[in-house]
Amino acid sequence: MTNLRIPGPTPCPSEVLQAMGRQMVNHRGGEFMQIMQDTTAKLKKLFLTQHDLFILTGSGTGGLEAAVVNTLSPGDRVLAVSIGVFGDRFGNIAKTFGADVTWVKSTWGQAADINAVKDVLAKDPALKAVLVTHNETSTGITNPLKEIAAAVKAAGKLLLVDAISSLGSLEFPVDEWGADVVVAGSQKSWMVPPGLVMVSVSPEAWQANEQAKMARFYWDFGKAKKYFEKGGQTPWTPAVSVVFALSCACDMMLAEGLPNIISRHARLGQMTREGVKALGLKLFADEKYASNTVTAVLGDNGLDAKKLTKVMREEYDIVLSGGQMELEGKIFRIGHLGWAHESDIQQVLDALKTALPKAGFQSV
Ligand SMILES: *Cc1c(COP(=O)(O)O)cnc(C)c1O
Repeated sequence: MTNLRIPGPTPCPSEVLQAMGRQMVNHRGGEFMQIMQDTTAKLKKLFLTQHDLFILTGSGTGGLEAAVVNTLSPGDRVLAVSIGVFGDRFGNIAKTFGADVTWVKSTWGQAADINAVKDVLAKDPALKAVLVTHNETSTGITNPLKEIAAAVKAAGKLLLVDAISSLGSLEFPVDEWGADVVVAGSQKSWMVPPGLVMVSVSPEAWQANEQAKMARFYWDFGKAKKYFEKGGQTPWTPAVSVVFALSCACDMMLAEGLPNIISRHARLGQMTREGVKALGLKLFADEKYASNTVTAVLGDNGLDAKKLTKVMREEYDIVLSGGQMELEGKIFRIGHLGWAHESDIQQVLDALKTALPKAGFQSV
């Protein structure tokens, strides 16, 4: 069986796949409305939020657009904290819809500079919101979100978080840390196929929503709330089969328990980092902030990262990710989030041992 070790889509347990295979139901009928209500309640336990939470149909990027257009107006000043491809994307969405974006960027492979963030917060009182990526999937870094959130909330700003590759696998108590809009995606930590975004919305985000004038139609939190309050409906036809899958996966996650899920990811992250270093490889990410959901490895000592992913796929049936944008050909990435266990990582490490020399790597 293929060992799919990319940071999403991630493999799904057979229970989840079976749940998806059900016959269609009326998405405005009682049975489905009950499933939507129950799944929303289960998700709130995993987000650790008491606020509104919506299950929307689309990919993660749609959820990021929803976070922006529902809370901001054209001309609003926002701070985009970007440490990689996905941070750039979040800020660019705001720019596309007319926000006046100030950037705090880090060298790729580094975490966000908290002092630079504090500096902008102190110097720009007109700032409306801060956009931040919790876990930057392109570089394998987990930002110190708790500290960033504390600074943003102390300044009284709105905090919009891309938690697409972190929520459900890394620690992020949404209400406790004060995040206003938090976006998660079904195909990452949740052991579910692509198709759904889950978004929490705080009371402060609703206040901002009353003033927000950015154009929106499909991604409208107001419409989502109105329909959910009809007993569990959505404004548009949802990805019914993926909701069946998500409901099943949430049961599995609640049975495992959030603290156990977080410690399993911590173990997998450490095992992956120790394992690749033992093979003589170097981590791309600053190890202090290295992610427990995805490990980025530098193509060093003659290693052709592109060739390596090809050899791993063709000869070992293991699918790794390459680098994105400027990192293409320079790094490779190993996903270890969602339905992932020690045996999956051991298989990758065993294969790397013989695959690396075939891709030009010379151990020193
Ligand atoms: C995967 C990912 C996205 C994009 O999600 P899509 O579902 O591909 O739109 C955004 N942000 C982060 C951090 C991600 O890992």
